[in-house]
Amino acid sequence: MRNLLALLALLTTNNLLAATPPDGIPRELARQRAAQLSGLSYHLRLTLTPRAPSASGHEELQFRSSSSAPVLLDFREGIVANLTVNGVAVPAKMENGHIELPASAIHAGDNTVSLDFTAPVATAGKAITRFEDKDDNTEYLYTLFVPMDAEMAFPCFDQPDLKGRFHLELTAPDNWTVISNTPIESHSPVGDGQRLTMFSETRPISTYLFAFAAGPFRKVHETAGLPGLYVRQSKFKKAEEEAPEVQQTTAQGIDYLSNFFAQPFPFPKYDLVLIPGFAYGGMEHAGATFLREESVLFRTAPTHSDHLNRDILLLHELTHQWFGDLTTMRWFDDLWLKEGFAQYMAYHALAALKPKENIWKRFYQSIKPAAYSIDSTKGTTPIYQNIANLKDAKSAYGAIVYSKAPGVIKQLAFVLGEENFRDGLRLYLKEHAYANAEWSDLVHAFEKVSGKSLQEWAAMWIRHRGMPQVDVAWSCNAQDRIDHFSVMQHDVLGEGGVWPIAMQIELAYPEGAPTRLRVQLNTEKSDLQEAHAKPCPQYVFLNDQDFAYGRFLLDERSRKAVIKRLGGVSDAFERTLLWGSLWDSVREADFAPREFLELALRLLPAEADESLAQSLIGHVTTGLHRYVSDAARAQIVPNAEALASDRMLHSTEQDFRIIWFRGLRAIAESPQGRAQLKDLLGGKLAIPGVDLRPLDRWTMVTALIALNDPDADSVLAAEEKRDQSGDGQKYAYMAKAARPDAASKQKYFNDYLHDPSRPEDWIAQSLGGFNYWNQSDLTLPYLKPALEALPQIKRDRKIFFLLGWLNSFIDGQRSPAAQAQVREFLATASLDKDLQLKILEVSDELDRTVKIRQRFP
Ligand SMILES: [Zn+2]
Repeated sequence: MRNLLALLALLTTNNLLAATPPDGIPRELARQRAAQLSGLSYHLRLTLTPRAPSASGHEELQFRSSSSAPVLLDFREGIVANLTVNGVAVPAKMENGHIELPASAIHAGDNTVSLDFTAPVATAGKAITRFEDKDDNTEYLYTLFVPMDAEMAFPCFDQPDLKGRFHLELTAPDNWTVISNTPIESHSPVGDGQRLTMFSETRPISTYLFAFAAGPFRKVHETAGLPGLYVRQSKFKKAEEEAPEVQQTTAQGIDYLSNFFAQPFPFPKYDLVLIPGFAYGGMEHAGATFLREESVLFRTAPTHSDHLNRDILLLHELTHQWFGDLTTMRWFDDLWLKEGFAQYMAYHALAALKPKENIWKRFYQSIKPAAYSIDSTKGTTPIYQNIANLKDAKSAYGAIVYSKAPGVIKQLAFVLGEENFRDGLRLYLKEHAYANAEWSDLVHAFEKVSGKSLQEWAAMWIRHRGMPQVDVAWSCNAQDRIDHFSVMQHDVLGEGGVWPIAMQIELAYPEGAPTRLRVQLNTEKSDLQEAHAKPCPQYVFLNDQDFAYGRFLLDERSRKAVIKRLGGVSDAFERTLLWGSLWDSVREADFAPREFLELALRLLPAEADESLAQSLIGHVTTGLHRYVSDAARAQIVPNAEALASDRMLHSTEQDFRIIWFRGLRAIAESPQGRAQLKDLLGGKLAIPGVDLRPLDRWTMVTALIALNDPDADSVLAAEEKRDQSGDGQKYAYMAKAARPDAASKQKYFNDYLHDPSRPEDWIAQSLGGFNYWNQSDLTLPYLKPALEALPQIKRDRKIFFLLGWLNSFIDGQRSPAAQAQVREFLATASLDKDLQLKILEVSDELDRTVKIRQRFP
C-alpha cells in the first residue's frame, strides 16, 4: 500500500511539473509537498533601506525530502539570483510564482537551498508595506503574509502545514527598532549608520505567521512580566495613556488561557505592535501580534463598549497563539478552526475576567446578526469551505468563519457542557502542539472526552451550508393552561436541511419569573409534551440566552405582547434578544419598518443599556436611509433629530451622550440638524464632558459635504487648516469622497483602481463617503465597473478589502434598477465561483431593501 502511494505521489508530482507550474498553490501541490518535505528551516538575512522600492537579502533553506523528486519553491514578484541546491548551481527561472528545483539537484534526505533575493516594498499591494508618517516625516516597514504573501517577500513553501524554524537577521538604520517573532539575540553595528540584529530561532511556525516590523518604533511602559507594546514615535504620548489597560488585559488573558487550555504560553515572548492603517484589526503572528493602531488608540471619543471591543480584539489575537499558531489548520478550508475559536474564546475569557459585564449579550449583538445576514443568502458557504487553490483563500474570510463559527461553537459548548468542552480543547491542543490539525481531529477530541457522537452534529453544522428558521405554534385552553405547543424548523434557503438544534425556550409571564424549557429539536417538527398544562404565557421566545443558532421570529400573538411589554422587560439580555427578533422580522419584510422605527424612538429615551441603545440607533439609521419611503423619512427625521440632540446634551451618562452624538451625526439632514453639526464643529455647541476627537469631527464634515450643505466648503477648509496631521490628510480624502458631484466621483473611482501609491486604508475609509446613502443616483454608474474590478481586487488587495468594496458599492443602492444590474452581471460575467458567491451574499441586502420598500411603500 505504501509503495503504491509513493508511486502515485510521484506520478502526480511529475504531472504537476511536466508542464508549466500551476498558478497559485493548488491543494494537490500542497498535499504532495507536505508528504515529501519535512524538517524545514529558513535562515534569512535581509537589508531594509529607507525609501527603497525593494528589500534584498540572502536565504538558506534546509529541508528533508522523502525522495529525489523535483520540488516547487514559491516566489512571486521578486528577483532570485545565485541559486544553488546542495551546492550545485540551478537556473533561477520563475514561472507562475514558482521556481522549480529539478530532481537532479534534490537528494532523498537533507537538502540545502541557497539564494539571493530581492522583494518589492510599497505603500500598498505588497507583502512588505511601507507606512509614511507625515506627522514627523519618518517611515515604518511591516510584513503581512496571510494567507499566501510570504512568497512575495522571500522564496518559501507557502502553505500552513509546512511549518519551519525561522532564523532572521535584519540590517536596518541604527535608529530603528526591529521586532519579530522571537527575542533579539544580538545587535552589532555594520557601518554607515546601519545595524545588524539577529533574532533567536523560532519554534516551528507556518509561513503566514512569520513577521517583522521595523522603523523608529518606541516601546511603551516597559514592565517585566507584561507584554511589550510598540508604537510609532509620533503616537508615543497617546499610547502611554492607553498602554496600562491594554497590557493588563493581555497579561490577565495569558494567565486565564494558559490555565483554561492547560498549556503554558507557547512562544518565548509576546509583543503587541501598533501599525497605523493596518488592513485588519489584528494579525496573530506567533509571539508578535500586529494590531491596527486605530483599534487601540481611539480616533473617536470612546464609550465603555469601545473599550470592551478592544478587549475582545486583544483576547482574540491572544487566543490565536494557541489556536492557530501552536496548533494550525492544515489548509485554509479549516480557517474557522482558528477564527471561530479565537472569537468564541475571546468572549469566554472576557466573561471570566469581567464577570460584571453582560458579555454574552454582547456576543449576541456583535456576532449573531452578522452571521444570520450572510447565512440566509444564496451566497453562503458551509463553515468548512472547500478551497481548491490557496489564491482563493482570501474569500474564505468573512462572517461565516468570524460569526457563524463562534455562534455554532457556543451551541456546541451548550450541548457538551462546559467541562467536556474545555477538556476536548485541552486534548486537541496537546495532541497537535506545534503541528497541524483538521476539524475532524477536534470533533474526535470532543467525542473522546464526552463519550457523545458528534457526527450528525458536525455534518449539518460544519459541512452543510445555511441555517434553520425555528417557529412555534401554541395555544391555551379555557383554564389558561397550554394545550398545544409545537416547534418546527425549516431551511431558510429551502435546500432541505434539518439541523440538530439545542435550545432553551422561554415562557414569559406578566408577573414573576419565566419558565425555561431545555429542548432538543432534531426533526422538522416536535410536539413539546413538557410544555403542556403549564400556565398560559404572555409570550414565547425560542432562543432564550442565545444558545442556539438560527432565525427565531416571534409568533403573531407573542409579537403583539412583546411590542406592548418591551420597555418593561427588566433583563437587558432578554430585551436585546427580543429587539433583535423584531429587527429580523423587519428584514424579512414581515414587520413594517416604520412601526419598528416609531417603537424604537418611543422606547429609546428610557433604554438604560448603552450597547442596546447603540444598536437600536443603528437600526433607526438603517431603517431611515434604506427601508422606509422618502415621505416617511421626511416625517420621522425631525423627531429623531430632536431626540438625538436632546439626549446628546442632557443624558446623565457620558456614554449615552456619546452614542447620541453619533446618532445625530448619522441621521441629521434637515437644516436644523445640519446647523447643530456646524455648531459642534465651530465650538458654539459642546457636549458636556465629551471631548470630540479628530475622527468625530471629520465624520461631521463628511456628512455636511454629502448632504450638500451650503457651508460645506468653508467647513472643510476650516477643518483642513485645523488638522494638518497625517491622519487629518487621510480623513480629508475620506470627506471629499462624499462630494455630491459627478466629476469628483469619476476622479475618486479612477484613483481607487489606478493609483498604486494610494494606501489601501485611505481607500477603504473613503468608500462609505463615496457611496453615501443619499447619492444612489450619482453612484449607480459605478456599480457595474465596481463589480467588474473584483478579479483585480481579489488579486491585489488584502483580505477584507474586497468585502468592504462590494458592501459599499451595493449598499449605496436601493432601487430595482440597481438590483437588475447586479443580477444581469451575475448572469453574464464569467467569474470565479468565490466571487460569484460574494456578490450573491452582499446583494441579498439590496434584494431585501427592494422587497421591504415595495411591501411597505
Ligand atoms: Zn483571527
